[in-house]
Amino acid sequence: MPDNQNKPAAELVDRFGREVRYLRISVTDRCDLRCVYCMAEDMTFLPRSSLLSLEEVVRIGSAFVALGVNKIRITGGEPLHRRDILKVFRELGALDGLEDLTLTTNGTQLDRFADSLRDAGVHRLNVSLDTLREDRYATITRTGKFDRVMRGLDAAQAAGFDRIKLNAVILKHRNHDEVCDLVEFAVERGFDISFIEEMPLGVVGDHDRAASFYSSEQIRRDLAQRFELIPTTESTGGPSRYFRIPDVASRVGFISPHSHNFCDQCNRVRLTSEGRLLLCLGQEHSVDLREVVRSSADEAVLRQALVDAMAIKPKGHDFDLQAQPVIFRHMNHTGG
Ligand code: SAM
Ligand code: SF4
Repeated sequence: MPDNQNKPAAELVDRFGREVRYLRISVTDRCDLRCVYCMAEDMTFLPRSSLLSLEEVVRIGSAFVALGVNKIRITGGEPLHRRDILKVFRELGALDGLEDLTLTTNGTQLDRFADSLRDAGVHRLNVSLDTLREDRYATITRTGKFDRVMRGLDAAQAAGFDRIKLNAVILKHRNHDEVCDLVEFAVERGFDISFIEEMPLGVVGDHDRAASFYSSEQIRRDLAQRFELIPTTESTGGPSRYFRIPDVASRVGFISPHSHNFCDQCNRVRLTSEGRLLLCLGQEHSVDLREVVRSSADEAVLRQALVDAMAIKPKGHDFDLQAQPVIFRHMNHTGG
């Protein structure tokens, strides 16, 4: 976790006393993959004109940093598919006060981008990988080629990032039998790994979320067959709870929005690709920052809008896999 000793006083504090220090920015809703839990096969993407420009993304990111945010994650959609995206990394990476600039990617373009990202000041990467089997990768992502993400991981490792973390969404009957192999792979390669419980965001065709739910608790029981998992209090500033395996550098994390509600410590907000500031992943409370940046060039106006937004950050989410979706946003809009 970033060192909190010297950080400036928080100016973004919500009604429950939670300091917002972490911003996730979705820079596009588009993606080359169609993961079954994230998107429908046939997606309608936003018209390009409704997206924030890269300059607007940097402007909003900079305003957050001026108000005490010290960690920004760039996500999507697939961020490396947005044209000229390196500009965002370079400009945000140069901001005083930003301690951690990270990226979540599906890895398919990493062989082209790894070196430039590293040069732009990205020290850590999250790469999504749910399976080690080529045929399953093709089925889960609907359009993906496994060797592309493997090439991407090789390139990322060669580029020398401080940490690379794999993100795996575990689904019953699709990949739940691979959790031990995924940890083995992470350990061999020196990666961290986080297992994510599926969240009910958006309607995703005929994929049945309730039937495929596989809890973190169950994953931990499966892993215990092969590994000794020691709980830690380590954090990377996000919702993962980490475990260590003796004598191994890799950490094993769990993001468990269903079985472990992490809302009371939530330090995050999200900016969608259209410029909506979402105060909670699982609720619709939001502020239209695109309107704010397009109606005024005054930085004080933008900063005040961010401070005011804290008043509507909800106490927490309330995910229910059995119910009809209440959140119609897909994860690619929200930014995972
Ligand atoms: N395209 C990039 C990627 O896949 O890493 C970044 C965006 S993706 C929306 C960010 C993360 O959200 C990925 O790790 C993905 O597995 C996860 N994700 C997508 N839909 C999800 C869902 N419904 N529940 C839980 N995690 C989800
Ligand atoms: Fe694309 Fe990432 Fe969603 Fe998969 S999880 S469809 S890679 S945005």
